[in-house]
Amino acid sequence: MHEMSIVTSILDIASERARQANAKVIQEIEVEVGALAGIEIPALEFCFQAARAHSIGEQAELVIREVPGLGHCPACGQESTMDFYAAVCPVCHDSVLEVRQGREMRVLSIRVD
Ligand SMILES: [Zn+2]
Repeated sequence: MHEMSIVTSILDIASERARQANAKVIQEIEVEVGALAGIEIPALEFCFQAARAHSIGEQAELVIREVPGLGHCPACGQESTMDFYAAVCPVCHDSVLEVRQGREMRVLSIRVD
């Protein structure tokens, strides 16, 4: 399950920022997850519950901001939402959409004490 390695790196980033802020406890970690990042949100939450134990993020809440997929059609120039890779343009049905947004996976902010 690759969500576990993602959660590990989220906690690493958050722990590093907490250390820099001389914090003892992380209360909240806010992350951005794109619809096309290939990440299962329920699996991410499940792994987070398991991985945060015995760490500085033991009490942390994981707040997930989902970013919708957005694609640009090179044939007709329209932008459309997309839920999966290689989606065909819903406007002209002539071309495959180029991804403009939705691949992101990053830590936006943490709240510490
Ligand atoms: Zn098109």
